[in-house]
This record gives sequence, structure tokens and C-alpha cells, in this order.
Amino acid sequence: SVVVEGLSKHFGSTIVLQPTDLSIEAGEFVVIVGPSGCGKSTLLRLIAGLETPSSGCIRVDGRDVTDAAPASRGLAMVFQSYALYPHLTVAENIAFPLRVARRPKAEVEARVAAAAGALDLTALLSRRPRALSGGQRQRVSIARAIVREPSVLLLDEPLSNLDAELRVRMRHEFARLHAQLGITMIYVTHDQLEAMTLANRIVVMGAGRIEQVGEPIALYERPATLAVARAIGSPG
Ligand code: ATP
Ligand code: MG
Repeated sequence: SVVVEGLSKHFGSTIVLQPTDLSIEAGEFVVIVGPSGCGKSTLLRLIAGLETPSSGCIRVDGRDVTDAAPASRGLAMVFQSYALYPHLTVAENIAFPLRVARRPKAEVEARVAAAAGALDLTALLSRRPRALSGGQRQRVSIARAIVREPSVLLLDEPLSNLDAELRVRMRHEFARLHAQLGITMIYVTHDQLEAMTLANRIVVMGAGRIEQVGEPIALYERPATLAVARAIGSPG
């Protein structure tokens, strides 16, 4: 589970995130939507520990991680630009976080095989990133994120660099991965179809705050504001 209480962020005098409460259950697939600049990435980066909060606290699976280093929070993050190491093979890219954590060789091999299998990359393990398609590269970056078996996966517009056809395929991948791993997913997107089809609950943000939280159908049928209706494509 991920629980934030009174979490806020300002840069100088600019308030980017108002004090925010949000509670996400273990195994939930939560999608965050909202207009550009409303603070979606900031909220994700605060949870990941890549930004320091101005106030508030963050708990992951009951543990207060507000002051914990990113790598020790039990979560992993996938970015829009999936920077892979060009000189390393797919297997070495996926293994990288385990090598940094100095895990034993046998464990590294077993976990890389499992992560690669989950993302259908087994046949590509000896290739280098330049010999992969965009969708394959993004799958490698997701495999690298799950290889440490995080309890929470944070995804910031992971498909926005892919073409329409790949986005559809990857959307199904995410649904399958979520069902298969039982992992908590927090997923930022601009794509209303991704939000409506992937989410157990949708968080709609607007200008530094949460506007409404609910199941996709409930938000679609009863958006609290026009901004919420717009964000999820409801006729209002
Ligand atoms: P997008 O959909 O375009 O990715 P977003 O909802 O992810 O937008 P954020 O990246 O969280 O938005 O940014 C929220 C606001 O915080 C923006 O107005 C942005 O300019 C501001 N901001 C982000 N980082 C900083 C920073 N380091 N210093 C000052 N302002 C920042
Ligand atoms: Mg963003």
C-alpha cells in the first residue's frame, strides 16, 4: 500500500502540490490524470523519493519512508524516456539494479530470467538496445524496474513515446503484468482510454491538488466538476 498524508511541495514561492492525502491499497492499479503542469510527475517523484516534500509523510506497506533513500523504499519507477545503457545487453541492463545491490550471481540469473519471461524478452536477452524496437526497449526498462521485486511500481507516462499500435499492445501488457505480479501500480497518463481500461481507481488532478478519486465508471458517470469530466473524457 501507499499512503500519503498532508504531502505538499513548493519550489520557492510556487506551490506545485497543495497538502494532499491519498491512500492506495496493496495490489491496486491507480491511474493519475490531469492537465499538463498540474503536478502529476511531482507527486510520483515525491513518492519515489526523487523530490523532498515541503510537508507531509509517505508510508509504503505501513513503513514511513518519508526520509528513506529512493532505493530502500520498496518501489521502482519507470519513466517516459527509458534510458537504457547502450553498451550493455538486454540481460545486463535488466540485471543492473541487482549488480548495484551486489546480489549473488545465481540470484541475479534467476531474477533476470523471471523478469525477462514476464515481459516476453527471453529471446532478446543477448541483444543491445539499438537492435530493439521502441516497444521492446520500453519492455526492457519495465523488466529492469520489476527485477528487484518492488511492491509498488510507479509509471510516468510510460507509453507516450510509442506509436498508437504499440500503445495498445503495451496497455494489454500492463494489465497482464498487474494481474500476474499482484503489484501495486501508480500510473500517470494523458490517455483517457488507458485510464478507463487499466485503472481500479482514477485520481484526477488539477492545479496542484486532487480534484476527485473514484472508480472509472463512477467518475465517468458522475464527474464532480467540468475539469474532471474533461480529464476523463466524460460527456459531463
Ligand atoms: P505534464 O503532464 O506536462 O508532465 P505534470 O502534471 O507532470 O505535467 P509536473 O511536472 O509535476 O506536472 O509539474 C508541476 C508544476 O511544477 C509545473 O508548473 C512545473 O513547472 C513546476 N515544477 C516542476 N519542477 C520544478 C522545479 N524543479 N522548479 C520549479 N518548478 C517546478
Ligand atoms: Mg509529468
